[in-house]
Amino acid sequence: MASLIFVVVSIAAFFALAMNRARLRAWAIAVAIFTLSLQIGLGFPLWTFLGWLVAGLLFAGSIPDIKRNYITLPAYRALKGVMPPISETEREALEAGTIGWDAELFSGTPDFAKLRRVAPITLTDEERAFFDGPTAELCKRLSDWRIRHELHDVPDDIWRFVRDNGFLGMLISKEHGGLGFSAQAQSLILGKISSKSPDGVTIVMVPNSLGPGELIEKYGTETQKAHYLPRLAKGEEIPCFALTGPFSGSDAASMRDVGVVTKGLHDGKETLGVKLTWDKRYITLAPRATLLGLAFRLFDPDNHLGKGEDVGITLALIPTNHDGVEIGRRHLPAGAAFPNGPTKGRDVFVPIDWIIGGPDRAGQGWRMLMSCLAAGRSISLPATSAAAAKAMARRSTAYARIRKQFGLPIGFMEGVEEPLARLVENAYGLEAARAVTASMVSAGEKPAVISALLKYLSTERMRQSVNDALDIHGGRGICDGPSNYIQGAYQMVPVGITVEGANILTRTLITFAQGALRSHPYLFTEIEALQDADRDRGIETFEKTFDDHRAFLFSNATGALFHNVTFGSFASAPQNAGDVTRWWRQLSRAARSFALVADLTVGLLGGGMKVKQKITGRMADALAELYLLSTILKRYEDDGRPAGDRLVVDYCARNCLARFDVALRGVIDNFPVRWAAWIMGPLVLPFGVRRPAKDRQGKDIVRLALQPGAFRDRLTRDIFTGEGDEGAGLLEETLIKVVACEEAAKKLERAIRKGEVKRFYNNDWIKEAETKGALSADEARELAELRDMVARVIAVDDFAPSEVARAQAPDDMTSHPKQQHIAAE
Ligand SMILES: Cc1cc2nc3c(=O)[nH]c(=O)nc-3n(C[C@H](O)[C@H](O)[C@H](O)COP(=O)(O)OP(=O)(O)OC[C@H]3O[C@@H](n4cnc5c(N)ncnc54)[C@H](O)[C@@H]3O)c2cc1C
Repeated sequence: MASLIFVVVSIAAFFALAMNRARLRAWAIAVAIFTLSLQIGLGFPLWTFLGWLVAGLLFAGSIPDIKRNYITLPAYRALKGVMPPISETEREALEAGTIGWDAELFSGTPDFAKLRRVAPITLTDEERAFFDGPTAELCKRLSDWRIRHELHDVPDDIWRFVRDNGFLGMLISKEHGGLGFSAQAQSLILGKISSKSPDGVTIVMVPNSLGPGELIEKYGTETQKAHYLPRLAKGEEIPCFALTGPFSGSDAASMRDVGVVTKGLHDGKETLGVKLTWDKRYITLAPRATLLGLAFRLFDPDNHLGKGEDVGITLALIPTNHDGVEIGRRHLPAGAAFPNGPTKGRDVFVPIDWIIGGPDRAGQGWRMLMSCLAAGRSISLPATSAAAAKAMARRSTAYARIRKQFGLPIGFMEGVEEPLARLVENAYGLEAARAVTASMVSAGEKPAVISALLKYLSTERMRQSVNDALDIHGGRGICDGPSNYIQGAYQMVPVGITVEGANILTRTLITFAQGALRSHPYLFTEIEALQDADRDRGIETFEKTFDDHRAFLFSNATGALFHNVTFGSFASAPQNAGDVTRWWRQLSRAARSFALVADLTVGLLGGGMKVKQKITGRMADALAELYLLSTILKRYEDDGRPAGDRLVVDYCARNCLARFDVALRGVIDNFPVRWAAWIMGPLVLPFGVRRPAKDRQGKDIVRLALQPGAFRDRLTRDIFTGEGDEGAGLLEETLIKVVACEEAAKKLERAIRKGEVKRFYNNDWIKEAETKGALSADEARELAELRDMVARVIAVDDFAPSEVARAQAPDDMTSHPKQQHIAAE
């Protein structure tokens, strides 16, 4: 018995020391006590010598001089060659944003209080009134079909409405004539508009995201602010921002667009300025813009600015009617209709004070852009993606309840239930992630890593939701026309996937390979120490951090093992977490595993990490699942833990954890350093990969979502639900009627099956059923109404050939826009 107690106490002490990041001296003392106890119990067997040796080595390792010479310096030398060097543009990107909950997840021991402190969705009275008033009105006025098909443009009356109501200045402060709305309000407003017209929202989104407005507000000179902000807020200026060029897409910093500081004539006077040459493409709103924000590389051969010859990436504001600016041609992105096009200029002279922030800000363009991107990327695309997921869930659940085949609503068939369950999961999860992240930005955060992971996560899940909705609608979703409420979103999917950092790059490079540098508790400091030109200072910083890092690694290794073999039963959870305490514990448990694998990935792959993108992509997925689960649990709490939502939370949590495990399994199975993979496997996945949610759970949440009521409204909150709309609105009304008429419909079906009533065209089978006593008069009336409504719901638009015919393309290849462009080169 005494031996058993001794073993248990020893194991407990080992885990307690390791998980609490004990220092070497504490380990030395612990090993000494352990060895002594063994000797007291067992006499003096020779092998206890080993215990004393280990204790001695640990103690020696804790003596500063020995530690420096035998641990720190060898590690310093070894890692100097392995760790990735940080380029200037990378450093600027890393330093531009903030870290927050991502760093907690990387720590392996997230402090849940920090997440709980993020405010739930809160809007001021003014923001709420704007959401319920002008935003709802704009949704009613927007006709997606008119924009996408008839005009292939956003009509003037819509431009006028958004201008007159201040939509274009939501992020511009009140002081400068804007609405000064919070990130949360902007996110909700953008989401609602996009749920009506994914094309139409673009004209509101661009001026309120990464673009001249935000850059001027944050970095502009007082003159630029006073001149441009009120004009932008009122829509007197239409902005666009040009970063991407034909040869610099994802690698935007490699741009060939160039500016040279020189003297030239402006308004007839000799002026210090910049001679610019640029070639940009894909620029949203460019064809309509009056103000062009331009990124270019600035050179100053005569050192007029005192910043040396290569000043760096710089941003300028150029009125589009300025001499030499070529703008106005259009691209046709995936059939979408919002204005998008190229711009060019050759040797265009602009005064120096057109640089955003004036000459003082010359060369700081990349940092300025990255700082805006970290916040902006957290708002627009997550908002529109969450809205699309909610809209697809709402419309597909309604349609699946209304549309019958084989005598049954298709939503009751297991095959359809599967994509419906995914739709419910995505709608709940994306809204949670959107809302929590927007609140972080409202509180002043600029979350660099979270914004990257949320960008790709939300747009990928949105793509899944739109595809699922299409599958569920069959031909009804495919055939386009005014009553099609899916095609608009479908056309915009690739745009969301590509803009603001194309998803493959964002997943495989930005989120983890670069994100780890930012969110990992020690890595960035260590790399800075390794790169420090002052070697002594570098070694000193490195020693301190490396010590902590070593304890951190060991703590996560033991923590992961402990929590994984005990199934997370002892993992931490926030106080009063109620009926989802177990999921918080599972989140803690998973964070430990993530921290360990992340640490070994960055430590062992070092600079090679950027090319091991299948590994970093999976690590990004693992982090994304942890983030998603965190926000889902927070949403549930913020919403007051509604009973029905608990089922969705369970469903989402299981799937998040299963996908998390699959991602880590993939990392471990393919980890290039095999000995590390052999260690990680048993620590992280001792019992294999967790199973996703069960079919039964999917059925439960789908049945809830197929029912009009509070659950469905919460699930799809804050989108345009279609009052008075022939597409989405009719669906809602018909769904309510379908449910109300369910009993009568069953009676009718029975009569038809028995052959009492014939359901064919040219026969009023409902009237016949009434006549034959199968239905009461009221039931027959209701069912007749329903029949007509269902016919409208399932109808697809058709057109006279003359309405859809397009003019034949001319034979002459040089009249093709691309050929013209090349010929002009
Ligand atoms: C509709 C639309 C609107 C846009 N609006 C604007 C705008 O207003 N202003 C503006 O400046 N730009 C705008 N863009 C440009 C957009 O930001 C770029 O399209 C995007 O950055 C990708 O560049 P690219 O299209 O040249 O693709 P490429 O850079 O050629 O990339 C092709 C593929 O390779 C992947 N890839 C590239 N490098 C890596 C890497 N290192 N690791 C892994 N994968 C990689 C990418 O993820 C992508 O999948 C817009 C684009 C579109 C389509």
